[in-house]
Amino acid sequence: MEELVGLRRSLHKHPEIAFHELETRAIIKAFVTERAGLFEPFYDGQCGLVFVKRCKDKPKKTVAFRAEMDGLPVKDEKKTDYASLNPGYCHSCGHDAHMAMLLSAMEKINDAELENELVCIFQAGEEVFGGAKYLMEKISNLSIDYLFGMHITPDMKAGSFSIAAGEMMASSYTAEVQLNLACSHVGQGADRLEIFNLLYEAANQFNNDTQLMKIPHIRDNGYYNVNASEITLCINIRSFLEKDWKSEIIKLVKRISDKAALNNATFKEISYYPILINTESATRKATEIIGKCGGNLVEAPRSYSSDDFAFYRNRIKETAYFFIGCYLGPEHQCHTASFDLDESCLAHGEGVIVELFNSTF
Ligand SMILES: [Zn+2]
Ligand SMILES: [Zn+2]
Repeated sequence: MEELVGLRRSLHKHPEIAFHELETRAIIKAFVTERAGLFEPFYDGQCGLVFVKRCKDKPKKTVAFRAEMDGLPVKDEKKTDYASLNPGYCHSCGHDAHMAMLLSAMEKINDAELENELVCIFQAGEEVFGGAKYLMEKISNLSIDYLFGMHITPDMKAGSFSIAAGEMMASSYTAEVQLNLACSHVGQGADRLEIFNLLYEAANQFNNDTQLMKIPHIRDNGYYNVNASEITLCINIRSFLEKDWKSEIIKLVKRISDKAALNNATFKEISYYPILINTESATRKATEIIGKCGGNLVEAPRSYSSDDFAFYRNRIKETAYFFIGCYLGPEHQCHTASFDLDESCLAHGEGVIVELFNSTF
């Protein structure tokens, strides 16, 4: 357990942004070389690292597990000796814990008992940029039968897991819209609050039980006494519907421009993650193994979270994603500067991965 915690902390100290996970790759490679020698490297590049454990005899199934590698551009404000050494970046989504659990599980695999071929995926760029889509191409000639993914959640305590078959998490559509307006002196032009007021009204009309639009941040080129002429809205839509979200956003901007003095607007699509769907058979297997490991299992509610794990279902027949509790306190929420986790969850997660790899499918 101490070693597992140490591994998580060493990864935690080196958070890196999507597709720049260089130190992270080095830590993973060094660990696998020294401690998990049964695994051979299969892919090593900007999209991540993939290791394979071949079987001596014909494998019953090829079973894969995915951990993400990227951190977030969030300042780490923890006062711990394992806080981020990379200013302005933090592992505030727990991907450090995911990597540590998978690496430690790889070390514990016993070759003699193994009847499955194993694939361990360390994937770059999960946050926003859909790294799964690119890594999938790199491993297309591995015929993976089952893929599992696990994510920490501060919504449950360590020892608890949640999963659901079918649609579990929403799709996520990310785009930027730049509103172009006439530049003006603050004493003459219309207040930019007018635009934000219209946006707020439009978002309220758009949002309902099946679609949720948020504008997590806005950039502009204004100054204390200069009304901005460029306002860039960073838009994120979460939904359980399949729609042409680009047209929906364009319609919404049109509604605003009819009322405010917009010159025009430019649109840039950033990413789209599909709805995350767990297949029946993989969900059943994960449920069985979590139970066998003594985990407290609950039904996962459908949520407006999203994960690019959803892409793997395009290529792999059986996929399941589940949550592992890591609650430490109300102030330690994901994607925040004070995020941290109850490290006792790590041993639970590692145990489940080892059992999944050793299981008969
Ligand atoms: Zn995240
Ligand atoms: Zn995450």
